[in-house]
Amino acid sequence: MALNLKSSNVATRENRIGSITGYIGTLSDLANQSSCGTLKGCSRCFSQSSTCLSSCALGQLSAIRDVAIIHHGPAGCSAASAGAYYLDKVMAKKRGVTTNTVYVGTDMNENDTIFGSAERLRKIILEVNKRYSPKAIFVTSSCATGIIGEDIDSVVDDVKDEVEVPIVAVHCEGFKSRIWATGFDISDHAVLSSIVQPPRQKRNTINFKNFYESARPEIIEIFKNFDLEPIFLYCNSTIEELSHISESLATTCICGTLGNYLGNGLEETYGVPYIRTINPLGIAGFETWLRAIGRVTDRSEAVENYIEEQRKIYIPQIEEIKKELKGLRAVLGMGPGYTFEVSRVLDELGVEVVWALAWHYDKKYENGEVPPSMKYLLENDVDFEASVADQQNY
Ligand code: SF4
Repeated sequence: MALNLKSSNVATRENRIGSITGYIGTLSDLANQSSCGTLKGCSRCFSQSSTCLSSCALGQLSAIRDVAIIHHGPAGCSAASAGAYYLDKVMAKKRGVTTNTVYVGTDMNENDTIFGSAERLRKIILEVNKRYSPKAIFVTSSCATGIIGEDIDSVVDDVKDEVEVPIVAVHCEGFKSRIWATGFDISDHAVLSSIVQPPRQKRNTINFKNFYESARPEIIEIFKNFDLEPIFLYCNSTIEELSHISESLATTCICGTLGNYLGNGLEETYGVPYIRTINPLGIAGFETWLRAIGRVTDRSEAVENYIEEQRKIYIPQIEEIKKELKGLRAVLGMGPGYTFEVSRVLDELGVEVVWALAWHYDKKYENGEVPPSMKYLLENDVDFEASVADQQNY
């Protein structure tokens, strides 16, 4: 991808990587159409299967510790902030750290949506900075500011010298994409363009993008075997930590939909290798993924020894579980980064997948390739009925 960190705007997933929100057919047809470039989403006049992308973007950014999110929009757009705020506090407590991240809505009213409220936004930014002393400020847009063309970038530029911490305009107007996961890319773009600094030294760290630091202790233990330290993104990240992620030996993620933009961005801008394998789920996934990390960090021998050791422990246990699962069939509905990974794991466990549904589908990733999960299923002759975003309850 050609990343433009000088612009605060990110193209939508539909435009950048041809993502779709409507398909019914089979996995093989979906993958074949993706690889030959003919896949088109069916159009809908309404959708009940998605949410606003700004909740996704702001949920990611507000998980960073001690920052301020200033959401410039009507009060309704900030409704999700209560949930995000609560979750961030819970996740910090679980980890045993504190976060003073604040989430402020600017409460635009009718007058503001007609005449604009750039001057009020400026005052709010300065007041938030004075009151909470955040380590970074993310000033985010909404449909209302997008429609009236509120010039958030100019306001941000204008106050830059006064706030003395990184401040960035985040363009997350909900109407710009049907795919809420565009919010992941928007938050990554904000972090890449305003927080990450060029590398000064290499560190034995791996950038690990997952949801809510899940399995943190186990992942830390795995990487200790290779003298590597994972940096979890972005839940409980600090601005200082994020400023150094360009110094890591590699970037990896638990879900391509979640981590693709950041991984590619760090690779393209700072040469940090992005691990593009199937995900570390199931036997094939875990081993393929770990081997790729071994290769890029020059630890292949240690990785092979570790895999051999672990196989002795886990393969007999997995064989036992397979006996219990025999005869089961599965229907799945998940985000696309998981749907076609979990179906691979179920296939590995001998569970027949009869239908798999993805919330949306990325027909290729930023490097122009079909997602590795799809390639794997096709190469291994796994096929089943598949659909994209057809859970329209009404
Ligand atoms: S879709 Fe637009 S109006 Fe609705 S919450 Fe998102 S930004 Fe606000």
